Amino acid sequence: MYMTLKRLVLTDDPKQALRMVRHLMAFMAIIIFSIACLYFYYNDMLYKEGTDFSTLVAAFWAGMLLITLILRSGMNQQLKDPSMTMIQILWCTTFLLILIYMLNSMRSIGLIAYFAIVSFGFFRLTLREFIITASYVCIGYLLIIMYIRIDQPLRINLALELIQLVAFVMTNLVMVYTGAAVSKLRDGFRQRNLELADALKLNTRLATTDDLTGLYTRRYIMDMLSKQKAQSERDDSDFVILFADLDHFKQINDNYGHHTGDRVLKSFSTIIKSSIREIDYASRFGGEEFVVLLVKTDLEQAKQVAERIRSGIEGYNFADIAPGLNVTVSIGIANYKEYKSIQETLMTADNRMYRAKEEGRNKIIFE
Ligand code: GH3
Ligand code: MG
Ligand code: MG
Repeated sequence: MYMTLKRLVLTDDPKQALRMVRHLMAFMAIIIFSIACLYFYYNDMLYKEGTDFSTLVAAFWAGMLLITLILRSGMNQQLKDPSMTMIQILWCTTFLLILIYMLNSMRSIGLIAYFAIVSFGFFRLTLREFIITASYVCIGYLLIIMYIRIDQPLRINLALELIQLVAFVMTNLVMVYTGAAVSKLRDGFRQRNLELADALKLNTRLATTDDLTGLYTRRYIMDMLSKQKAQSERDDSDFVILFADLDHFKQINDNYGHHTGDRVLKSFSTIIKSSIREIDYASRFGGEEFVVLLVKTDLEQAKQVAERIRSGIEGYNFADIAPGLNVTVSIGIANYKEYKSIQETLMTADNRMYRAKEEGRNKIIFE
C-alpha cells in the first residue's frame, strides 16, 4: 500500500522522484506557513483593507499544485531547468511580497521566510538566477514600502523600514556572493566529474581494445578465458582456444614496409571478426599472434571457423596496397574440455600452431 502510493506520487525515475520530493517538501512548508498566515489574518494581525486573503492563499496553492502536476506528468523534462527551481522560488517570493505588504510591524518575518525559500536554490541556481531572485525581492520590497508610504502613511515607520531594507539588501548581497561561489564550485565539480568519466572510459578502452586492430587485448581475453572457465564448470559447456600466427610476417615487413605490415594485421583482424559469432572473443595476443575464444563450441565446429580464417587470408587480395603480396596463417586449436586448465589449453594451441609452422605453414593443427 505504502509502496504503491510512493510510486504513484514519486514515479520510478530516481531523478524525477528527487525533484518531486524537494517540491513536496517546499509545498508542505508553504501549506503550514500559509495556514499560520491565515490565522494571523483572521485574528487581525495582518493588514486587511481591501484584501481577500483566503482567495490569495488558494491561488498560491493552485500555482504550486500546477507545478506538482507538471512534475508528475514528466512535462518538466522538456524545460531548460527540469527541477523548476527558479519558477518555484519566484512563485513563492511573489506570495511573500504580498505578505510583506500585509504584515505591519512584523514585516521582517517575511524576510526571514525569503531566505528559507532561496535556500532551496542553493545547489541549483546559477549566478545570474541568484541575481534575478535577489533583485526581484529587493526591488519588490522597496516598491511596496514606497507604495504604503504614499498610500497609507500612517501604517509605516519609514526610518525603521529603511533600516530593515538596507539590512535585507546587504544580506542579499552576501547571499548572492556565497551563491555564486557555490555555483562555481558546483560547476567545477561537474566539469571534473565529466573529465574523470572520460578518462575512465578511455582507460577502459585502452585496457580492453587493441588500438591498431580494434580486437581485444591480451589482458582482456585472459579475463574472458577465466570467466569462460567458471561458466564451463557451472554448465559443463565446451569452449575452444584458437591460436593464430601470421606466416613469415617479418618478410612482409621487410619487403613491403612496416605500414603495409600494419594494413595486413588490420585486414586479418577483419577476416577473424567476420569468421566468428557475436558471442566469441577475438584478441591480438602479441605482434602478429592472435587468440580467439570460441564459446560453447566443440572441436569440429572450431575446425570450420579456423578453416574460414585460414582460407580467408590466403585468398585475400592485397593488390591495392601491395601487388603480388600473399599472406597465410598457421593455426593451432585446442579444446578446453580435454585439459581443464586455461594455461594448459593455451599452451597446447600454441604448440600446435608451431607444429603447423614446422609442417609447412598455412595449416590448421588440432591434435
Ligand atoms: P613465422 O612464419 O615463423 O611466424 O615467421 P614470422 O616472420 O612471422 O615470425 P617472427 O616472430 O620472427 O616475426 C614477427 C614479426 O612481426 C616481427 C615484428 O617486426 C613484426 N611485428 C610485430 N608487431 C608488429 C606491428 O604492430 N606492426 C608490424 N608492421 N609488424 C609487427
Ligand atoms: Mg609470432
Ligand atoms: Mg609469424
